[in-house]
Amino acid sequence: MVTDKLMGFLDEEIAKLKSEGRFVKLRILEGPQEPVSIIDGKKVINLTSNNYLDLANHPALKKAAKAAIDKYGVGTAAVRTIIGTMDIHMALEKKLAEFKGTEAALVFQSGFTVNVACCQSLMTDEKDLLISDELNHASIIDGGRLSKASRKIYPHKDMKALKTILESSEAQGARRKMIVTDGVFSMDGDLAPLPQIVELAEKHGAFVMVDDAHASGVMGKNGRGTPSHFGLVDRVQIQIGTLSKAVAAIGGYVAGSKSLCDYLASVGRPFGFSSSHPPSVTATCIAALDILMNEPQRIEKLWSNARYFKEGLKRLGFDTGGSETPITPVMVGDTARAQKFSGRLFEEGVFALSICYPTVPRGKDRLRTIVSSGHTEKDLDFALEKFAKVGKELGIRE
Ligand SMILES: *Cc1c(COP(=O)(O)O)cnc(C)c1O
Repeated sequence: MVTDKLMGFLDEEIAKLKSEGRFVKLRILEGPQEPVSIIDGKKVINLTSNNYLDLANHPALKKAAKAAIDKYGVGTAAVRTIIGTMDIHMALEKKLAEFKGTEAALVFQSGFTVNVACCQSLMTDEKDLLISDELNHASIIDGGRLSKASRKIYPHKDMKALKTILESSEAQGARRKMIVTDGVFSMDGDLAPLPQIVELAEKHGAFVMVDDAHASGVMGKNGRGTPSHFGLVDRVQIQIGTLSKAVAAIGGYVAGSKSLCDYLASVGRPFGFSSSHPPSVTATCIAALDILMNEPQRIEKLWSNARYFKEGLKRLGFDTGGSETPITPVMVGDTARAQKFSGRLFEEGVFALSICYPTVPRGKDRLRTIVSSGHTEKDLDFALEKFAKVGKELGIRE
């Protein structure tokens, strides 16, 4: 249908997005998400998904999902607070709390919704102060916008700036102060300086929320996250995790005190106004957590693959930024070249998506790579060979 006159602005907006290289064309997976996948009809080494532990097509998870359908049906047809809570949802929350070493956990539809719920529900007054790293995830930014709090953004990992904010007169008069940070930053793969954040928070009477979307299943003992990695589980009040990345299903959760979870279950808007997970999703998460607990070798393989690939890229002369995790950016600098790099790699059989402005600051355009525990050394060597070839072709490395 031709866009009607009233809606003609859409075509203008789309033309603008296209001219800026910001129009999104969806790529289509044919078959499961795998370390080597069929994407847009082509078999490629997949360096773009968050399938860290190669669980997205794991037989035990699929079996658990199917069994849950037989036992519970396909959906809950209700929000959690009405009659959308099944015993299996409670079992997952109990397991998550045990896993995280917290009093309680509460599951939301996604990492996005749990971040929104926490920022919005905990920061409810103009006298509250939400303090956020400039590179925090979009869901934290949106959650902050939906909260009533005043907001302060500090430059990425700048602890001096955080200290100055905490010492400011606004902070002196604040009713509640919350410092929010990603545990692993999703575009750069670097870690939040949690020990310093926690220390400053304690000194200034602030509490800390860590979004461990990219750390869940990746960092800390058995993938428990960055507070576990830094030995700070008892000093971070609000731990956010996702079930959509390494855990390979969908969902997000908050882990912390029982009061925190009880409160959010009563007032968290996505919890009360959007329906709960199908039981098959919940069963998948439970099965994935069992694997995290029982197969630490998967996480070890993820990290050895990450080290191997990162070192290979560096050896080839690429700039991998400040990455400390399996997320490894390959810095390019300008949008057109980053997109060209990604396109040429795809033709060569390697899928690494370009990440451009405004997702990252101008001039920081890059390819972002994420290896999986399921990649073989042969897969990674193939990818490195293609990075070398195309990088040279485009003058991105010497
Ligand atoms: C992916 C991501 C989210 C959102 O998680 P979903 O479960 O996919 O909604 C939140 N925060 C960060 C840092 C992320 O990378």
